Amino acid sequence: MLLEREVELQYRPHMLEALQNKVHAVADSLRGQTPTCSRCSRPMKRHDAETVSWEARVGQLHALVDRYRCPNCNDEHRPLLDLLGVEPGRICGALARLLCSLAVVAPYTLAARLAGLLLGVEISAMGVWKVVQRMGESAARYSEGMSQYHADSRSKGASTQDAPPVVVLSVDGSMLGMQVRKNRRRRTGSEPLPPLPAVPEGQFQEVKTGVLLLPAERVEPSPGRHSVVRRFLVSCLGNADTIFAGLYAQLRELGWVGPNTMVVIVGDGAEWIWNRATMFVHRCEILDFWHALEHAWSVARLLYGEESRLADQWVHRIAEDLRAGKVQEVIARLKRMRPKTPELREKLQGLIAYYSQHAGRMHYDEYLRLGYGIGSGAVESAHKQVVHARFRQAGMRWSEAGARRLLALRLLLLNDNWALLDRLPMVSVA
Ligand SMILES: [Zn+2]
Repeated sequence: MLLEREVELQYRPHMLEALQNKVHAVADSLRGQTPTCSRCSRPMKRHDAETVSWEARVGQLHALVDRYRCPNCNDEHRPLLDLLGVEPGRICGALARLLCSLAVVAPYTLAARLAGLLLGVEISAMGVWKVVQRMGESAARYSEGMSQYHADSRSKGASTQDAPPVVVLSVDGSMLGMQVRKNRRRRTGSEPLPPLPAVPEGQFQEVKTGVLLLPAERVEPSPGRHSVVRRFLVSCLGNADTIFAGLYAQLRELGWVGPNTMVVIVGDGAEWIWNRATMFVHRCEILDFWHALEHAWSVARLLYGEESRLADQWVHRIAEDLRAGKVQEVIARLKRMRPKTPELREKLQGLIAYYSQHAGRMHYDEYLRLGYGIGSGAVESAHKQVVHARFRQAGMRWSEAGARRLLALRLLLLNDNWALLDRLPMVSVA
């Protein structure tokens, strides 16, 4: 262990030197080349040169950077910085991406600490937060751009030649605690920051997550433990249209919806899901089996009391019948019941209405036979992984922009698409 660290410490300066040499070489290669103005295309004039530094993982880099100016429109241009993709005094792109990878799994303070341990980089939580804003904005714009692009029917998707016969799409939502303040606190002089205002109840916003998978790729690594080989996640801090636009774009990118593909949509009772599901011509709507049972449970508890064996048996029988496709029998049986209290009557009516409304989405025997599955377990676990594990830790409050950006980055990691970040620019955010 000590040997390894010793070598690292010993060679760090050498790595910095090697990197610095490469920077000098790039600077030399540009010398004498006159850039043209991006606005008026005229050749620019060399104005001055200044030494600029920025932070890389192995230390601080410097370069003498020529500044050019357009005599016509006064635009300025520093070709070396553009080519290297760095900004003076800022963190370089490679380090920024590493810091983002830590911040998508750990809170900012811990990510900063991990940066010290893993990368040997000293940085504050605020420093990590800043690079996440800049990279995250880029990632969020990319995925939103993708949704917009595919919302146009002339968009080019991947080939659907090998489109699967069946795709399963499921969606779920949960609440995120939001910050109340609209403006960031500012430090005046050397005074400590003013305390955060108390968070009133009800400051929440829904995050929606959708999962796409192929039922043919479902595996059972051990009895009763189901998983899938591949799944693609889409998540957003937005309305129903936004999440469905994202899911549709992802399907187009994958080439998963061909003219004969059956799109299976699994959801709970939420109307917004079924309203949007109609965008798929060949579709099969399924009411999540576990939600269907959860509603039965609420009646059973009232009927027989908490943790009673009879309640257990009552729900078990409903489960068996539903699984066998006998939803109409179940409804008929519920209607024959004579509830003794107004409360029970109301709950029972609610359950009957729920099953009647969704009966067309409860042919579970058929869905099982066709291999579609009957539950939205995949989306619930995915949703927990996307949202809960990072965004819903004790006391966390988010700004809309902060959540949107971090969410976009976290999805890249969970979808195993982190390499995309290399192709995205770091953007400046106010
Ligand atoms: Zn010009």
